[in-house]
Amino acid sequence: KRRVSARVGGISESATLAVDSKAKALKAAGRPVIGFGAGEPDFPTPQPVVDAAIAACADPRNHRYSPAAGLPELREAIAAKTLRDSGLTVDPSQVLVTNGGKQAVYQAFATLLDPGDEVLLPAPYWTTYPEAIELAGGVPVVVPTDDTTGFLASVEQLEAARTSRTKVLLFNSPSNPTGAVYPPEQVRAIGEWAVRNGIWVITDEIYEHLVYGDAEHVSIAAQVPELADTCVILNGVAKTYAMTGWRVGWMIGPKDVIKAAANLQSHLSSNVANVSQRAALAAVSGSLDAVADMRAAFDRRRRTIVEMLSAIPGVTCPEPEGAFYAYPSVQELLGKEIRGARPKTSAELAELVLEQAEVAVVPGEAFGTPGYFRLSYALGDEDLVAGVQRVADLLGEAK
Ligand code: PLP
Repeated sequence: KRRVSARVGGISESATLAVDSKAKALKAAGRPVIGFGAGEPDFPTPQPVVDAAIAACADPRNHRYSPAAGLPELREAIAAKTLRDSGLTVDPSQVLVTNGGKQAVYQAFATLLDPGDEVLLPAPYWTTYPEAIELAGGVPVVVPTDDTTGFLASVEQLEAARTSRTKVLLFNSPSNPTGAVYPPEQVRAIGEWAVRNGIWVITDEIYEHLVYGDAEHVSIAAQVPELADTCVILNGVAKTYAMTGWRVGWMIGPKDVIKAAANLQSHLSSNVANVSQRAALAAVSGSLDAVADMRAAFDRRRRTIVEMLSAIPGVTCPEPEGAFYAYPSVQELLGKEIRGARPKTSAELAELVLEQAEVAVVPGEAFGTPGYFRLSYALGDEDLVAGVQRVADLLGEAK
């Protein structure tokens, strides 16, 4: 018999967290590492949110177990926020509060998939999706995209990948890792295609408020109302309110699906920490002013990072329209000599960048598309410029 089950033994460590912890370990050992690994805003959590949490600590109501599906006030506030931000009317009973968006991702797949069910997964994809699909017994069917189409999957590509076993399309716009944002017409076309073919859509909208320039985020569930019975929305406070460590996310879906997922959660983790839920309540029911300030800073950093990366010979960096990631191609540099090494893959090149330039980036291998780097620009402006300059100095030596 195996010591570790095949199911769990098959899961690899989150590459993004691994890069981040390696960078933090090197930093702790005294090396001046600059980390572009974690998708984590560098801003403090807005003060009204922190104040709500402080008050919640002193309130004896919060010392006790609360309903596994979430505090009723928070479920209501999330329904109200969904109407405000997405123009979508949902009942609070359709909202399940989870430990971060990540738990919502796992529970969505666990609740919808039977063994062998296929999930269409456009690549580059966030590194957690295939693991969550496989743990649920599903089969990820990767739909590759590249920078020639702005990393957007078309209806034709999805149709070509569809089989009689296809149950779900995973849709993520704005995208981690590419920052691509699907234009409203394409969102509608994809949603209509899903309805026509009886395919569920799991739409991860955690970066909904982080879009730049002319890009616009629309929720596929609002664009295609016929999806109401076959759509699950994933979201959370982490990216919008600089609350990654507070661990509050949610899933919204048809009542039967949410009830089933809540049953699962009632045995898995019960309620999310009440103090965090009270903080999330203040965040989602408060104003979006702090988000606007953060967005302006991300937008400035976005323009800086794209300009600096594009100036490196052998690096091509499309302009991301959302989230806080740049996803440049480094394909032209592979196989070239850099400080005595000859990295052949983006993973090897990322290792070299960490060793020689003391800069942490996540290689495209983690997102199903070797040949790219993902750099989060959710770090301070000075570190951003210094870090990319170090990468530029190192890669500039390629011959
Ligand atoms: N979905 C996407 C696309 C993400 O990038 C992340 C975090 O990196 C999450 C969901 C989950 O975020 P959290 O669990 O911190 O709420």
